Amino acid sequence: MFQNAKAAPAGAATDPAGGETPTIPYYRPIGTECALFERAFRLRLPLLMKGPTGCGKTRFVAHMAARLGLPLDTVACHDDLSAADLTGRFLLKGGETVWTDGPLTRAVRRGGIAYLDEIVEVRKDVTVVLHPLTDDRRLLPLERTGETLAAPDDFMLVVSYNPGYQNLLKSLKPSTRQRFLSIAFDYPPPAAEAEIVAAESGLDLDRCRRLVALGGRLRALKGQDLEEGCSTRLLVYCAMLVRDGARLEDAIEAALIEPLSDDEDVKQGLRDLVVAVFG
Ligand code: ADP
Repeated sequence: MFQNAKAAPAGAATDPAGGETPTIPYYRPIGTECALFERAFRLRLPLLMKGPTGCGKTRFVAHMAARLGLPLDTVACHDDLSAADLTGRFLLKGGETVWTDGPLTRAVRRGGIAYLDEIVEVRKDVTVVLHPLTDDRRLLPLERTGETLAAPDDFMLVVSYNPGYQNLLKSLKPSTRQRFLSIAFDYPPPAAEAEIVAAESGLDLDRCRRLVALGGRLRALKGQDLEEGCSTRLLVYCAMLVRDGARLEDAIEAALIEPLSDDEDVKQGLRDLVVAVFG
């Protein structure tokens, strides 16, 4: 799925082993997001990416981290994630209690990108930790050890969330939201999405275009029958199955019908739509 970049842009990592061009995860730019990310990094500003699940946010961060030659620490947030999970804790090791850095502290000490995926899920104490890190102080206070770490110039905080799950309790507070530059992501436009699906699956562009057209029709059902439309990720899965020799209807069933709903009537409606698109 990952492809070798043809050329490493200025500032890209060099391979410590041999100086060869590093592998950069494939990312098809949709707008000016790559330039904006580079500016945010240079200006030491934190970045928030919003958009539906499976539309390319994580791939974008992985691509940009590799392009800039930065290590990347990714944390998939969940509703039990506490500040200590990010910053670290004292752990018992061989009869001694030893401080162990969490992923955020590690990234702040070393530099690089800390990416918190689905930030709205986290517990409230996490935002307390993030605030001094997201203003011009760029500090990470570690309450337990009494240390306050200053983030190095090459540290960048990136967070993402999916505003689609409309849950007032879980939307980001303005006091947090307004600390980040924001980029809105969405499913790529059809021509770009077909290119992405073809590049990721190896299936011919023509068949990818038709799958993307079906995806567009399924997405139109969001809010009526479906909570979420089908992601670019699912279209890639479907194309991978077809490329691997699966029958089109089996691939669609497994990648585009079953993952979208558990309701038999809704699924039947989706199948009818497939027949309307593919005949
Ligand atoms: P999320 O928005 O949930 O973080 P991902 O970044 O994991 O989504 O994207 C899901 C998949 O969609 C990726 O693994 C990749 O195959 C594909 N994808 C989506 N957008 C792009 C893009 N612009 N360039 C390359 N691949 C993409």
